[in-house]
Amino acid sequence: MRRKLIVANWKMYLSTTKSILLAKKIRDVEKNNDVVIAPSFTALYPVGPVVAQTEIGLSAQNMHYKDYGAYTGELCVSDLVELGCKYVILGHSERREYFKETYDNVNKKIKQALKYGLTPILCVGENLRERRSGNASKAIEEQLKTALKDITKKEELIVAYEPIWAIGTGHPEDSKDADGIHEMIKRKFLNSNDKVIYGGSVNSENYKDFLKEKNTDGLLIGGASVKIEDFSKIIKGF
Ligand code: PEP
Repeated sequence: MRRKLIVANWKMYLSTTKSILLAKKIRDVEKNNDVVIAPSFTALYPVGPVVAQTEIGLSAQNMHYKDYGAYTGELCVSDLVELGCKYVILGHSERREYFKETYDNVNKKIKQALKYGLTPILCVGENLRERRSGNASKAIEEQLKTALKDITKKEELIVAYEPIWAIGTGHPEDSKDADGIHEMIKRKFLNSNDKVIYGGSVNSENYKDFLKEKNTDGLLIGGASVKIEDFSKIIKGF
């Protein structure tokens, strides 16, 4: 049985002080599970040392695809490496929706992350219209084709299947249906060492439903990952 991975996406929910406190609490309850936390950019610097000597991985929530340059407000991959990141979330639906991120852009970012030894956590998932018209798989395949174009050499890649209509709504995908999508993603796009995780309204009540599925290698958790009672229940229980 493969080890399951839990990724906590803290989005823009926490101040730097609260991020440090939460990281310390997670460090105190975490026992050798594969857990990754993704604080906001400014919190990466002080949170890095909190998790440095532990099994907890550090992730950024985004990055630029250039080495350096005149890109006001952006962070480059070498900054993330210097801050202790081992992972980077790319193509999250909130970046696609609010910041017009495209999968062409995400493709450049994945290449850049891999070049510097970071593991990309690539987010894909259909919107409600695609879902209702029966085009969910087609939409996800298109996203993956573009995001993974010309990427031949990969150390490790994590794909997070996150149906957009399930994110932050309290209405998760059915765990078996999600697993079917994961199976398709693995079969058509990934190598055996890559992982597919599920994200969208996972909480301490429903997480086990997903983790017991064969093609579900873990979870990407937003809202419930910043509530220590919920999150510690999840990381103690898998
Ligand atoms: C996410 O933003 O990646 C996510 C899965 O959010 P939530 O758990 O709040 O639905």
